[in-house]
Amino acid sequence: MTIERLAEIGRAVEDEITGCLLWRGQTTRAGFVADRRAYVIAFEIGNGPVPDGRIVRHRCDQPGCFAPAHLYAGTPATNVRDAWSRGRSRGFVSYSREERKARGVGWPDSARQTAAANRAGRLG
Ligand SMILES: [Zn+2]
Repeated sequence: MTIERLAEIGRAVEDEITGCLLWRGQTTRAGFVADRRAYVIAFEIGNGPVPDGRIVRHRCDQPGCFAPAHLYAGTPATNVRDAWSRGRSRGFVSYSREERKARGVGWPDSARQTAAANRAGRLG
C-alpha cells in the first residue's frame, strides 16, 4: 500500500490551504476502510506500526484527513495538550479560508517539525 494508492481508493481531495488529504471514497464509517481507519493506514505507511499504547491523532483536527504529515502517534493526554498549544480554544478552526490565508496559519510547517521531533524521540 502507498499513499498514492490510498488516495486513489479514497478519491482523495487535497485542501489547497491546509494540505489535508480528505477521504471521499467508500467507507464503513467516516474514514474507515475495511475496518481500519484510512489515516491509521496512512500513518503506518509513513511511520511504521503505531507504537503500543498510542493512537493515531490528527494535528489538523480533520477526522477525515489522511495526509501523513498531519498524523502522529499520541495519547489522549498529548492530544489535549497539543490542542491547547495550537490555540484551538482561541478559534483557529473558526477562521474562514480567506482569514486563514491572510494570517498564514502555519500549522502544516509546525506539524512537520513536530513529526521530525517525534521521529527523533524528543516528544512523547
Ligand atoms: Zn490534515
